[in-house]
Amino acid sequence: MQPKYKYDYIIAGAGCAGYSLLYHLLQDPILNKKKILVVDANFNKGNDRTWCFWEDQAGPFELIVCKKWSNIEVLKGTIQRLLPTAPFEYKMVQGIDFYQHISAFAKGFDNVEWVASKILSIDAEHNGAIVHWEGGAANADYVFSSINGERIQSTLWQHFKGNVVEFDVPVFDKSVARLMDFNVPQMDATAFMYLLPLTEKKALVEYTLFSPTILETAEYDLVLNAYMEEHYKGQAYTIVHTEQGAIPMTTKKMTSTISNVISIGTMGDAVKASTGYAFQFIQEQTQQIVNQLKLNQALDASVHYTRHQFYDAVLLYILEHKKMAGDEIFARIFKKNDAATVFKFLSNTSNLMEDIRIMLSLPTQIFLPAAIQVLFRR
Ligand SMILES: Cc1cc2nc3c(=O)[nH]c(=O)nc-3n(C[C@H](O)[C@H](O)[C@H](O)COP(=O)(O)OP(=O)(O)OC[C@H]3O[C@@H](n4cnc5c(N)ncnc54)[C@H](O)[C@@H]3O)c2cc1C
Repeated sequence: MQPKYKYDYIIAGAGCAGYSLLYHLLQDPILNKKKILVVDANFNKGNDRTWCFWEDQAGPFELIVCKKWSNIEVLKGTIQRLLPTAPFEYKMVQGIDFYQHISAFAKGFDNVEWVASKILSIDAEHNGAIVHWEGGAANADYVFSSINGERIQSTLWQHFKGNVVEFDVPVFDKSVARLMDFNVPQMDATAFMYLLPLTEKKALVEYTLFSPTILETAEYDLVLNAYMEEHYKGQAYTIVHTEQGAIPMTTKKMTSTISNVISIGTMGDAVKASTGYAFQFIQEQTQQIVNQLKLNQALDASVHYTRHQFYDAVLLYILEHKKMAGDEIFARIFKKNDAATVFKFLSNTSNLMEDIRIMLSLPTQIFLPAAIQVLFRR
């Protein structure tokens, strides 16, 4: 007989994926009565990251979207590609607003309990799983885990440092999100400046690279300072916030093999390997888990399906083996396609014709051998 666990679900790790799962569980009229325990080593993360993503309608976090853009631009050399994003909007959510929004909502449920402690282990136990943390332990039917992100191994990383800068005078066009400006030192990698204007005076300016080695903070700063000097010469500004991070770009599986322990978020392979975008995949993954729990189905948290995983693997192969410079790849993709098609492709929602159109943006002599290599490696 299945033992009666104290909790139905334990959410191990309350970052993007843990909070998203909690949110979607509590939105459901049946599952929101389950006993849920949330364990995290750090509930005071502050504004540790901003999430950007695209949607063609109001999503579940519309209330906390702090800025939206309907135009993006990609710059390479003297070429500027300005693209309207309709029917999508490119949206930004601040980490701190997200954490506060969901924890405030969850405070209304006395079936949700919280433990602030470092998790030491998660193991299988009878027909459930047990979580040990510093100072205690508990078991549940299911544990949803997003911890151990720091143990990930990846040959390629998307790594970056960003400053939110504020000027006294208007300098930015707040209607355009600069998705990629490749006119920065490439560092033998794929590198670009990501510039998101929040107002005419304030913007997030982020130096981003796809490469095997994460830089020292001073190395990002050098490029950020030079970019500001080049573009806003002599104009005084203040850095009001910084963010720094590294996202694995890999198609290797990282998910738990322990029964009744379901990996979510980065550990649950929710990151799009070729771009580092994860926020919307995490929403899809956690909503999918809620739907499966509701229907008593076996839990399957995968969100990247074969066809799109294959494209990711091909793009990664081209980048890793330097078959073509990354700036050239992305510049071509944005030159030959509209933003909506690229967004659909990056969301894994494009159809086969659209996929082919994107892939044909790359020279056949580059794409084809890479595709064959990936096929034979599998
Ligand atoms: C700075 C930054 C900006 C990003 N921007 C974007 C973006 O714009 N768009 C996008 O789509 N994606 C973005 N990403 C990628 C991705 O969306 C995030 O990394 C996302 O936070 C991943 O969610 P997660 O829940 O897997 O991990 P996290 O959000 O990192 O959550 C993991 C949680 O586990 C806890 N934890 C870890 N170990 C333990 C332990 N042993 N015991 C207890 N608790 C533990 C941590 O405290 C944390 O709360 C960004 C990532 C970073 C780092």
